[in-house]
Parts: sequence; C-alpha cells; structure tokens
Amino acid sequence: ARRRVQVAASIGIALADPETVEGGAPAMLAAADAALYRAKGSGRGRTEVFESSMSVASHTTVHRELADALERDELVVHYQPIVDLADLRVVGYEALVRWQHPHRGLLLPGAFLPLVQEAGLSVPLAQYVATAVVEFVAQTHDRTRWVSVNVSADQLGDGEFATTLLGEISRRRVAAGRIVVELTESSLVASGTRIRHELTQLSAAGVPILLDDFGTGVSPLSYLRDLPVAGVKLDMSFTSGIPDDPTAGKVARALGALARELAMVTIAEGIEHEEQARYLHRNGWRYGQGWLFGGAQPGDVSR
Ligand code: C2E
Ligand code: MG
Ligand code: MG
Repeated sequence: ARRRVQVAASIGIALADPETVEGGAPAMLAAADAALYRAKGSGRGRTEVFESSMSVASHTTVHRELADALERDELVVHYQPIVDLADLRVVGYEALVRWQHPHRGLLLPGAFLPLVQEAGLSVPLAQYVATAVVEFVAQTHDRTRWVSVNVSADQLGDGEFATTLLGEISRRRVAAGRIVVELTESSLVASGTRIRHELTQLSAAGVPILLDDFGTGVSPLSYLRDLPVAGVKLDMSFTSGIPDDPTAGKVARALGALARELAMVTIAEGIEHEEQARYLHRNGWRYGQGWLFGGAQPGDVSR
C-alpha cells in the first residue's frame, strides 16, 4: 500500500563569527547544536540561529544530561570484531562507546566526547567503559578473545583509570592480556611523564598498549620509543586509499614493515573491501577490522 509520510526537520545554524571560530570546529558544532536544541525546544520543525545567550544555558544542560547519562547507564559500549587476516577468524573486539540519548537517538562518540571533556567527566567515562569491558570479557566464552579499550590522554595521568581497570581485572579474574588499551588522541602525551607512568603501570601488569590512528599526526613515531607500546593500529585514512591511491598503499606497507621490525602487533582499521584486506595482509598487517568483517554491535550479540 502506498502511504504519504510527513517528514519535518529542525535546523540549528551557527555563523562563523570571530568569537565562535576561536574555539575551532568543536565550538562551531557545539554552537549549531545549541541552536538546534533551542529549535526543538520551541516546537520542532523550526530554524534557529545561534546567539551567545544560548551557549551558557545549553552547555550546562548538556553537562548535566551527561552526568545523568553516566548514572542511568545511557552510555553503552558496542563491540566491533577484529579478525586474523590469514583466516578471518575473530580474535577480539574493539570497545566503542555510544550515548543512547533519550531524545536524540544513538549518538556516536564524535558528537559527545568533546562535551564529556568540557564537563570534566573524561575520567569517570573511562572508568565506566573499563568496567563494562572487563564484564564483557569475563562473559565471553572464548577465552582467547581480547577486547581493546580506547583511552585518550585526558583520561590518563592521575592513575584513576589504571586503578579501576586493574581492580576490575583482578575482581573478575580475567587474564590481564585479554584487555588491551588503545591510546587515542595522543597529542598531549609527549608532555606528560604522569601519563607515561600510568601506561607503564598498565603494561607492567600485563595489559598491552596499542597506538591508535598510527601514521597520522596524533601518533608520532617518537611514541614508539618513549612509551611502552606493544602494537599499532593503522589509521583508516591509509586503508581507504587502497587501491586507488598508490602513496597510501606504499605508506601502509612501510608502516607495516616498521612495526614488524619493532616486533609489534599490527592491526589495520577501516577495511571495507576485500582488496584492501588482501593487500594489507600481503604487506605485513596481521589483524584487520572494518565494515567488511562487521560493524560495532551491542555486547550481548557477540558472545
Ligand atoms: P577509533 O578508535 O579510531 O575507532 C574507529 C572508528 O572507525 C569507530 O568510530 C568505528 O565505528 C569506525 N569504523 C570501523 N570500521 C569502519 C569502516 O570500515 N569504515 C569506516 N568509515 N569507519 C569504520 P566511532 O565508534 O564513531 O569512534 C570514533 C572515535 O571515538 C574512535 O576512533 C575513538 O578515538 C573514540 N572513542 C570511541 N570510544 C571511545 C571510548 O570509550 N573512550 C575514548 N576515549 N574514546 C573513544
Ligand atoms: Mg580505537
Ligand atoms: Mg583509529
């Protein structure tokens, strides 16, 4: 049967005035989001342009919402399979956080992690995810599978993340090597001996550390020397260049050779096509992850 469906949209607009531009892309997005909130709040199907009066109020609202979300378990962890590229067997998962927002639906980390940081909730979030992940690993029947947890520099330094993670690991009696830490957004790491100390503590306890987004500006090669790194994850911008961009393919090959030379674990991200999987495997990338093998799914389905 044919039916007519009425759709409507609310629109929030932010203008790139000097004040907003100062905060970069996150501030522009936050401003547009604040205007969107106002548009929805005043009756849907409307358009609002951001003005500074919206910012303070809506920010505190979002911050309070986030604090509540943590308490009410609205933050959920999804798991994306990681496979051995030799035989496509699932060897582990990457834990990716999402916000099941009561009004806005399932939000991806790009939409709320900057706000988490602003609200000063980075460490509580990391502890929340760590706890969920250890529980997931404890309940996974296949004892050889591991799960990697993303941690950014602002979640490290005071030792609280390591304390929670190692505490949960011993409480649930899982092997430390089945939890892996992915260091993401590591731009601040170089400056922090405290961060290095916390990573060393984890590594010494048997939790391997991986460098995420390897090959991009945020994970310079000096980290391989300065931090206790057990492996690298090839940034998906290189994967997506295969096979059309010859340079992307060559860089992927060279980075794979470098990682192998250092006896590091190699995982390639963002694999969407078989050709990419074959190329990366031929060129020394041992494990792979991407939509070709499956996207991130709620934890209960992958056990
Ligand atoms: P990441 O750690 O590099 O994670 C990979 C991202 O690529 C994920 O996006 C994943 O869903 C997406 N992806 C996976 N396979 C494919 C593919 O084949 N093609 C494409 N185009 N994309 C693919 P997501 O879940 O939106 O996460 C984005 C980033 O947010 C992550 O990048 C990570 O840096 C951060 N993040 C996620 N969860 C957490 C967390 O619990 N804590 C912290 N600190 N950061 C997190
Ligand atoms: Mg990651
Ligand atoms: Mg990555």
